[in-house]
Amino acid sequence: MKITAQVKSLPASSHDADALAATLRACNRAANAASEVAFAKDFKRRNVLQEAVYHRIKADFDFGAQAAVRTVKKVCDAYATFKANLRAGNYGAEGSKRRAKAESKPIRFREESAQPFDDRMLTNRDTRTVSIWTVAGRLKGIPFVCSDQAMNLLASRKGESDLVMWDGMFFVIATIDIPEPTVIKPDGFLGVDLGIVNIATTSDGQIMSSRQINRYRQRKRDLRGKLQKKRTKSAARVLKRQRRKEARYATQRNHIIAKKLVATAERTSRGIGLEDLTGIRQRVTARKDQRARLHSWAFAQLDAFVEYKAKRAGVAVVHVDPRDTSRQCSECWHTHRTNRVDQARFACRSCGIVLHADYNGSRNIAHRADAAWQRGAVNRPRTP
Ligand SMILES: [Zn+2]
Repeated sequence: MKITAQVKSLPASSHDADALAATLRACNRAANAASEVAFAKDFKRRNVLQEAVYHRIKADFDFGAQAAVRTVKKVCDAYATFKANLRAGNYGAEGSKRRAKAESKPIRFREESAQPFDDRMLTNRDTRTVSIWTVAGRLKGIPFVCSDQAMNLLASRKGESDLVMWDGMFFVIATIDIPEPTVIKPDGFLGVDLGIVNIATTSDGQIMSSRQINRYRQRKRDLRGKLQKKRTKSAARVLKRQRRKEARYATQRNHIIAKKLVATAERTSRGIGLEDLTGIRQRVTARKDQRARLHSWAFAQLDAFVEYKAKRAGVAVVHVDPRDTSRQCSECWHTHRTNRVDQARFACRSCGIVLHADYNGSRNIAHRADAAWQRGAVNRPRTP
């Protein structure tokens, strides 16, 4: 499986930072030039495009051979992704206006789009420094910060890494191919209920509340409102930065939650039961003020993080149909609308048990995941 390690590089001087930024800009200008050729001549294959633009890129942008080759590859990869998206209908149906518009012009790269580098251009050493080719010559000894885990991964890395600039900071993102761990046969399932008030509640009774998160986001929303009223260029800039900051915050929270869930399942030799998220937005009836929170929380991202981390740990993940998980009693299976007393409480009309509503839901999810696994109804990976 492919995993990514991210390190933040810390250019020591503004000269180094400028050189990196200038390199990204030059790479993207070169990519745009190559993209125009690829589009105009309908060059689909990498070697064909490379033959057509290689010397021009080298000469016009003062690139070395590797930089030119990587730029051509980036353009070809972008077209391949674009075509896959077209086929998947992500630009609308054939003949639609949106699709026609997307197809009518060459792919453009933003000034600061990520640029792939290969090992010859970029080296991570034991000293935690990066040596990187730039348009201003090779920069050596740029320190970077990353976790020990990422460091270990980097040591076994082969192939490409991306240089990315986010909000004036530089990151190196390395893709690492590791052997896929075998899925351990689960001894039961940890059910996870996703929600607005509590982002995740487990069938062990662990609650990951969104109170702190919502407070943070409310603050940001207020700030956004103020900025939007200003309608100045600088306000727009701040707004954009704030939005990205908020997205990073949400991503970080999702990482933390996913990590906790997978660690719990791994420690107790269980699998993880998740709701099938398709249609979660239509399904959940939320008050108006809650709807904003619901629609803006990245449940799909959380789901993806759990799946990814579980895969790495050999933890089985089963998605279940979440219908009636909030109305069914996790003790006696009695299902009725009135079982759910209010947002927080579940009280079974049949057996009388009273439970935290989300906890009850997560227990149902755990049962369903376990049943699905036993039935062999899930796409079960091979277990030893
Ligand atoms: Zn009951």
